[in-house]
Amino acid sequence: MAECQLPKLNVAGSIPVSRSILERMSRFLWNPAVVWTVVWLCAVRAPGTTTNLSFADGRIACEVSTRHDAVPELVATVLPIAMKAAMEIVGEPAETLRLSIRLEETPPFYKRLKALFQVEAFAVQHGDEIALRTGSDPLKLAFRLGHELAHWLVYKRHAVRPPLWLDEGLAQLAGAEAADVCARVHKENVARPAPPKLEQNAFGLDELTALADYPRTSARSAAFYWQAEALARAIRRRLGPPDFAAYVGLLCTPTPPAWQTPLRERWYFSDWDVNWLAEQIRPNE
Ligand SMILES: [Zn+2]
Repeated sequence: MAECQLPKLNVAGSIPVSRSILERMSRFLWNPAVVWTVVWLCAVRAPGTTTNLSFADGRIACEVSTRHDAVPELVATVLPIAMKAAMEIVGEPAETLRLSIRLEETPPFYKRLKALFQVEAFAVQHGDEIALRTGSDPLKLAFRLGHELAHWLVYKRHAVRPPLWLDEGLAQLAGAEAADVCARVHKENVARPAPPKLEQNAFGLDELTALADYPRTSARSAAFYWQAEALARAIRRRLGPPDFAAYVGLLCTPTPPAWQTPLRERWYFSDWDVNWLAEQIRPNE
């Protein structure tokens, strides 16, 4: 299923369309044959099901919609694991939240051919909706879902997103935790080797924490995600989960302090501690 690429309509600058064209279009659309064809296509092509699930003692109402007759087994088992992992990293919501997860079809054969047959788990969060392509690997699905659910929980918890490194670092931590738990359930081990050529593409600590845009090349991007996760993990390990949550909150403000300031002022980080953080994001080869 192709995603709709329609951009937001600019009403103020709308293109003038002649009245006769509109009238002809309207006559065509309301033609009974056209109406019935559309109704039939919708009935035949998209029967679908919607399943309601709840998490966090009912505070998260999650609606999973699919074109299939039921939520696939893979999603039904992985989703609770990924949600728990995301809540562990970001924190449980205090109020009632609604989330919609839309399962997308596997791309048609010719698209898979173009992607060298890889049907990877893929997810993207936008507002209160996550569009998800499940793929077939439970660990990859757990990682992607944990990652996107963490983004969603951060979005619901804080009015302003954290700096880019922390936003992605948090999401990576949740993804990694979800994949670990999923691996234990499946009696497997998660192998997450560092990205190739990390050494050449790695960012310095100041550079990483100052990034406002995603890196342009895939090698730099892989290094960015790896390092953002390593930095978030190191700070969380040093502060402990409750204080780490407090630290994230301090950076999710319209005019956040420099990332080091709360660490130095509230948690007494010294230059030595900051150097230790710089070590944690360096590829260890
Ligand atoms: Zn992300």
